[in-house]
Amino acid sequence: MASGSKPRGGAAAPVHGLPAASAGVPEHQGLLERVPAILYVAEAGPAGRWLYVSPQIEAILGFSPEQWCADPYLWARQLHPDDRESVLATETEEASSKHQSNASEYRLRHREGHVVWVRDNALLLRDGEGHRHWHGVLSDITEHKRAEAELERRAAQQAAVARLGEHALEGATMSQLMQEVVSSAAQLVGAGVAVVTELLPGHGSLLVRAGHGLRPGSAGKVTVPGGNLSQSGYTLSTGGPVVVADWDLEDRFEPSPAMRERRVRSGLTVVIEGRKGPFGVLGVHSRAARSYEAGDVDFVQALANVLGDAFERQAAEDDVRHRALHDPLTGLPNKVLFMDRLEQALARLRRRRSLAAILFLDLDRFKLVNDSLGHQKGDQLLAAAAPRIKQALRASDTVARFGGDEFGILLDDISGEHDAVEMAERIAAVFTRPFVLAGTEYFMTTSVGIVLAQGGELAEDLIRDADAAMYRAKERGRARYELFDELMRGRAMSRLRVENDLRRALERDELLLNYQPVVSLRDHSIVGVEALLRWQHPERGLVPPGDFIPVAEENGLIEPIGRWVLDRACRQAAQWYHARPDAAPLEMSVNLSAVQVKHRGLANAVQAALEATGLDPACLTLEITESVLLEDADGLGGALAGLKALGVQLVLDDFGTGYSSLAYLTRLPLDALKVDRSFVDGVGTEPRDTAITEAIVAMSHALSLQVVGEGAETALQIAELSRLGCDLAQGFYFARPVPPEQITRMLESGPTWLAAAR
Ligand code: C2E
Ligand code: MG
Ligand code: MG
Repeated sequence: MASGSKPRGGAAAPVHGLPAASAGVPEHQGLLERVPAILYVAEAGPAGRWLYVSPQIEAILGFSPEQWCADPYLWARQLHPDDRESVLATETEEASSKHQSNASEYRLRHREGHVVWVRDNALLLRDGEGHRHWHGVLSDITEHKRAEAELERRAAQQAAVARLGEHALEGATMSQLMQEVVSSAAQLVGAGVAVVTELLPGHGSLLVRAGHGLRPGSAGKVTVPGGNLSQSGYTLSTGGPVVVADWDLEDRFEPSPAMRERRVRSGLTVVIEGRKGPFGVLGVHSRAARSYEAGDVDFVQALANVLGDAFERQAAEDDVRHRALHDPLTGLPNKVLFMDRLEQALARLRRRRSLAAILFLDLDRFKLVNDSLGHQKGDQLLAAAAPRIKQALRASDTVARFGGDEFGILLDDISGEHDAVEMAERIAAVFTRPFVLAGTEYFMTTSVGIVLAQGGELAEDLIRDADAAMYRAKERGRARYELFDELMRGRAMSRLRVENDLRRALERDELLLNYQPVVSLRDHSIVGVEALLRWQHPERGLVPPGDFIPVAEENGLIEPIGRWVLDRACRQAAQWYHARPDAAPLEMSVNLSAVQVKHRGLANAVQAALEATGLDPACLTLEITESVLLEDADGLGGALAGLKALGVQLVLDDFGTGYSSLAYLTRLPLDALKVDRSFVDGVGTEPRDTAITEAIVAMSHALSLQVVGEGAETALQIAELSRLGCDLAQGFYFARPVPPEQITRMLESGPTWLAAAR
């Protein structure tokens, strides 16, 4: 693009103010000088002279018309170097061609050096003598060009923002996005430095996450002080974009050491917003003092917004991933994540000879605590237990919450069994301190099962084995650990088998009841019997209730089984009653599990059993274990009242193992308490057990409850129970639970213990 007729060669006389009609000089001088452009007449061709230049040239290019016309080379010299070649080439060509007119845009240098964009629009006319002259207009289009360039820059900025948004959606990593942001910002704002900083927790300082024009390696290492010790800090405290046009004049805050080091003179910073507060700051900085236009501020803010959204999305994704793999209550990994880590550990073990241990940890009696204190307190306790367990572990170990009060621990790379045992002991040690909830202290213990892994095992099997070892720890009295052995494997498998077989036990009539005499401590006569359930398994022999009742409670079979027990026991009691019409009626005790007590149909089932057998309700005693009391205090009162209304007796079984308070007992329609075997065991030998039993007896009598001592095995225990005022006793000392025929014999010929005593 070029044009124009500008003279070259030959000295030209100034023609400013030439009379009209001569040399093509304009006629209406005054009018022309009001046009906001330079008007000119010049000879065509490389040697053409400027014959006339209007005075506007002074304002636009800084030269007077005289200066301009005096030097035919001036125009060419003032051409911008980038445009000169093409403008001159076009001029040469056009001047010689038959062209009549031309318009082009190019840059000229103002006399003071700055660039002026002009549009040169000229007509080639021939005068009377046949000379060809350009009659032209040079308009200053600098402002127009600047606006055009600005538009282009804005378009490029918008495109950059759109591109960034696309990349964010396409799943670019945060560091890729941050890098893109700093390079776009630096380039399209025209600044040497661009930085993304992240607000560090605690809101003290900011960490450089990505930088353009910073010292290499700054990202992730260099921090920037907050508050008014840096532009970024100040930006966060004001919340809006902050422009520093010239650091020499800035007094709101100080430049950060990093910016000082880069010797920046100006800067623009905006907040990167997140949903829950600012994520950090995006800044562009320049070594020159300069102003940042509104468009630049908008652009940088738009980049920051896309980045902020990406951070949000990333955080949300992390959150979802975290939630899928962690337990919300304790924040610990969940079983899914645990299994994954276990698989990885096993794979590592297969590569190098080493050992790992899996610990299965269960809080002792947690259910009871949960039920008595409420789920909220239970949750608090679990949440407090998690960090305790963690505290005992090494950083490389994994502890996960499997659910409820069960935790799994993976000890990676241990040298032997002793490491696992030592860890179990350390865990026990951190649990010796009480847990304090709302000012009250609670003591918790743990049962831990341990299994070692060498890498060849299946993760599922290891968990099952650790679980079996944990069960053993529970059975052996809790607050301890057990190492898994092969024997346990068999037992764990059999637990699984129970479930299947139990379904058929009822149909095949494999259940039976044994009866254990309940003896008066006054005269050692049999006043009643307790029905105790047994399962005559075709292969396993006689299975005790503890081995299958929990399974039946879980799968609902306890309902039909419970009805069967009630019916069978009532029938047996009625039979003994009719066999001895003159004797005092024998009391029949039937155990109810927690699940049964909670069931609505219980009173109906009891009534049905009584009606079907014709048994006097006063002869039937229902035993509920103490833990039942804790489960649903309100519903329970109603359920027990419903039973009581049938005329049966109610006994609280296993007293002393739970947490019943005295006040609680007064509100329930109870007739008797059974002191748990764990106390009776030490009666007469352990002062503490004796004292507790004595207190229970005194308390019960104050509440008009009878007291039964359970599990008495020695003469000493019987003597002591009598001395303490216990009313009744039950235990191997008198008789084990036996089939009904043996009870019949005892009733007919008198109990053996009385015969022995005589
Ligand atoms: P429980 O009601 O406390 O029954 C007493 C348990 O202690 C019985 O165990 C009995 O055999 C045992 N025992 C009695 N005297 C002595 C003794 O001197 N020394 C020792 N070491 N043990 C003694 P069993 O029969 O294994 O029953 C365990 C538990 O199973 C019962 O505890 C009861 O809670 C539950 N249970 C038994 N039968 C049924 C039933 O028909 N339905 C329900 N829901 N639960 C039952
Ligand atoms: Mg019982
Ligand atoms: Mg008991």
